[in-house]
Amino acid sequence: MITEELLINRAAFEEKVRKLIGRPILLIELDMFALPCGCAGITANTRGLEVDDIEVFEPQMLPFLKEMAANLGVKSTVTFARIVPGSSIVASLNWRTLCTRCYPEFARSEGKTPRPDLYILQFERKK
Ligand SMILES: [Zn+2]
Repeated sequence: MITEELLINRAAFEEKVRKLIGRPILLIELDMFALPCGCAGITANTRGLEVDDIEVFEPQMLPFLKEMAANLGVKSTVTFARIVPGSSIVASLNWRTLCTRCYPEFARSEGKTPRPDLYILQFERKK
C-alpha cells in the first residue's frame, strides 16, 4: 500500500533530518501530487526548518532526498525547498518530475535561488 510507504518514509525522513540538524524539525505532512500540466511528485511540508540549515547541511541532506524519491518511485527532475518569501522559513521540500511545459522554466533559471521562494537542491538537465 502506498499510504503505508508514505507513513514509513515520513517518519524516517523526519528522524534523519532531526538527527542531522539537531533540532526538532517536523515533517507535518508528506503528500504525493499530480498537476493538470503533467508534473507530478512529492511534497513534504516542514516546520522548524530554516534556509540556513539547508545551506549548511545540503551535502548531507542530498542522499536523504534521493532516497525518498527512490523509495516512492519518483524520478525527480527537480528537488527544491519552498521558502516563505521575505523570511528564512522553509515551508516545504518538493520533488517534482517536470512536464515538458514546465521543464524549460526551470532549465532557464540559474543559481540556487532563481526566485525568492525557491531554493534548488537538485536539477537534472535533459541531454
Ligand atoms: Zn508541469
